[in-house]
Amino acid sequence: MEKLCPVCNSICEKHVICYKCGNYMEDMGRNSQYYDSYSCDIEIDTNGACIHLYQCKSCNAENLVKIQEIFI
Ligand SMILES: [Zn+2]
Ligand SMILES: [Zn+2]
Repeated sequence: MEKLCPVCNSICEKHVICYKCGNYMEDMGRNSQYYDSYSCDIEIDTNGACIHLYQCKSCNAENLVKIQEIFI
C-alpha cells in the first residue's frame, strides 16, 4: 500500500473558496517552498498530509491547504 496525495495524483480535486472574495481558488500545486522553509520552531504537523498552495485569481489571496493523504 502506498500513501499519496489524491490531489497531486489527479484522483480528486479539492475546491477551495477564497476567504476574501468567495471565488474559487486555483491549486498552484504542492508547496515545496513551504517544506524548504520548515524549521523546528514552527510546529506544523505535515505527517500524512500534503500542503497545497491555493491562489485566488480574482484578488490574489493565497491559502495553504492541507490535503489528507490516502492509501491506495
Ligand atoms: Zn498534494
Ligand atoms: Zn479572492
